[in-house]
Amino acid sequence: MQEKLLNLKNEALAQIMAVRDNNELEKIRVEYLGKNSGKLTLVIKKIPELEPDQKVIVGRFANEVKKMIEDALERQKALLQKEREENIAEAEWIDVTIPGIRPPEGHLHPLTQTLADVISLSRRLGFQIAAGPEIETDNYNFEKVNMPPDSPSRDTQASFYLDPRGSKVQPGEILLRTHTSNMQSRVMEKSKPPLRVLVPGKCYRVDDVDASHNIEFYQFEGFVVDRGISLTDLLGTVDYFLKELIPGTEVKFYATHFDFTEPSVEAYIRCTICGGKGCAYCKNQGWSEVLGSGMIHPHVLKFAGMDPHIYTGFAFGMGLTRLAILRYQLDDIRLLHSLDMRVLEQF
Ligand SMILES: [Zn+2]
Repeated sequence: MQEKLLNLKNEALAQIMAVRDNNELEKIRVEYLGKNSGKLTLVIKKIPELEPDQKVIVGRFANEVKKMIEDALERQKALLQKEREENIAEAEWIDVTIPGIRPPEGHLHPLTQTLADVISLSRRLGFQIAAGPEIETDNYNFEKVNMPPDSPSRDTQASFYLDPRGSKVQPGEILLRTHTSNMQSRVMEKSKPPLRVLVPGKCYRVDDVDASHNIEFYQFEGFVVDRGISLTDLLGTVDYFLKELIPGTEVKFYATHFDFTEPSVEAYIRCTICGGKGCAYCKNQGWSEVLGSGMIHPHVLKFAGMDPHIYTGFAFGMGLTRLAILRYQLDDIRLLHSLDMRVLEQF
């Protein structure tokens, strides 16, 4: 029986030392010392059946074993408590001399950054910034910029006309503006030259949405009206503008046609993606068309109440997306609308 007690003691002590929490300790206590069926209790209960001389010896040893197990339980409990306190203290300890963790820093989207640069450059050149309605009348969007209802140029600006039901407006009178040129007349009607105005804003055209087209796009337009403004002012301003926004680029001009300018010129820059060798983006031309411009048509001045014999002016407009693509050398327009942080973090 003494051997059995010895085994029980060793078994219990080994288990107690391995325990990591109080619930387990309690289970072990019940397993060995439980009142009814504890392993040690059961052995002790059998002691009265022993021979008288054995009773005393075994009884004393059993009590020692019981005391050892109880002590071991207490010791382990105290040890676990101490460890817990140390862990908490360690977790709460702060070294105030360690440099802080730098939080991830966001930045402006390339389109926003490009627009901010355009606005800041325009302000340096003395332009004022004007904003205007995105829901516009046919009159300001088309007629006042010399695009009467029968103008074939209207075909290139398929428009979203708004349903006028419930208002006094007639069908075909209001639409989502197709360009920022609606602001030319609006500004000229209310202000006197000299005018230097930049209009950034959203425009809308009916289009098939694909990798390079959207029904909603951002463009900006600058115009200048004063006495004696000439084509050379236009060429000089646009050249400077493009070279400031896309450093190191080359600019060239081609004659073209727009209803609202006469003469009209398109500006091309050396393709920033292929450096002029020819690529898919520039359709192997080495140059890409970036901007439309021209001397404001006398009709437009007249429609806005300016005397074209006294005042002349020029206007230029370009798409913000195209500018951003060329500045950041992206070969796919979809990248600018990507939500993938791995793309956006590169700018
Ligand atoms: Zn190219």
